[in-house]
Amino acid sequence: AKALGKGRVDIFEPEMHARVEKTTRIEHDLNTVLTRNELEIYYQPIVNLQSMTIEGFEALLRWKHPELGNIPPDDFIGIAEGSGIIHHIGQWVLYNACEQIVKWNRLYGGESEFFISVNLSARQVSHSNIIPLIRDMLEGAAFNPAKLHLEVTETLLITDQETAKRNMAELKQLGVQLSADDFGKGYSSLTYLQNYSFNSMKIDKEFVQDMETGGKGKRLVSSLVRLARDFDLSVIAEGVENEQQLRHLQTFSCHYGQGFYLCPPLPSEDIDVILIKGGH
Ligand code: C2E
Ligand code: CA
Ligand code: CA
Ligand code: CA
Repeated sequence: AKALGKGRVDIFEPEMHARVEKTTRIEHDLNTVLTRNELEIYYQPIVNLQSMTIEGFEALLRWKHPELGNIPPDDFIGIAEGSGIIHHIGQWVLYNACEQIVKWNRLYGGESEFFISVNLSARQVSHSNIIPLIRDMLEGAAFNPAKLHLEVTETLLITDQETAKRNMAELKQLGVQLSADDFGKGYSSLTYLQNYSFNSMKIDKEFVQDMETGGKGKRLVSSLVRLARDFDLSVIAEGVENEQQLRHLQTFSCHYGQGFYLCPPLPSEDIDVILIKGGH
């Protein structure tokens, strides 16, 4: 396409046009997503690979758009971060996910309570409001802070380092657990482990899936598990899609697994059914 002047292009690929239009629509509709009650949280069990019992859940956001259908988080989280609406959405997720886990713990928790793992975007972690927000939430919900796990990715390092570092330390003070999400996908992972006091590490599904393709993939995952253990972190492998991957992870003594083969992300009613049957 040839530019005809400032901001003008003569040929606009139809595909690109559709994409831009969809993004504009998402941007616009995000403003009312909470008032229109279109968000839902799905829960994916995190399974102890030794006992094969459910110990916690990751909260995964779903947007059921009345016209565009289901919009995956990867298609709107970035946009929400740009507009600042991520803070409202993030707060909504925290409150609802914590309320849900309190309920499950009351009904099915038994002696060992389930943990809830919530994704935080870099923007949220470097925001000044995050500490009071989580402190208030913990007080209101009256549950063990150690059962709230916050998943953060490495992009934190690149953006607002100082604030993020301070906030992470304060979050730690509140007693919540910090989890290094998508570990190894960035480029400064070891510094990252050194600078922040994580409790756990999540191995991205890409690495787990690469185990099949040959010796190197397997060695990479086993090294990551060993690295986590050396740093006294518990380690969670995501994207476990088959029996073989599960066996490998068990051989490497990976603590936890998460994936379609174990259980897909599900609406809370479906998790209720699993818990009633005593599937943990
Ligand atoms: P993530 O944190 O890396 O989450 C794991 C993704 O893998 C989820 O995608 C999950 O549905 C998917 N998954 C689970 N098991 C399997 C499997 O066996 N195979 C494969 N191929 N995929 C599996 P999802 O739900 O589409 O979420 C995408 C990303 O959106 C998440 O990646 C996370 O970064 C972000 N996200 C989701 N919910 C939230 C939220 O509440 N807040 C923020 N800030 N980000 C969120
Ligand atoms: Ca995650
Ligand atoms: Ca991610
Ligand atoms: Ca991931």
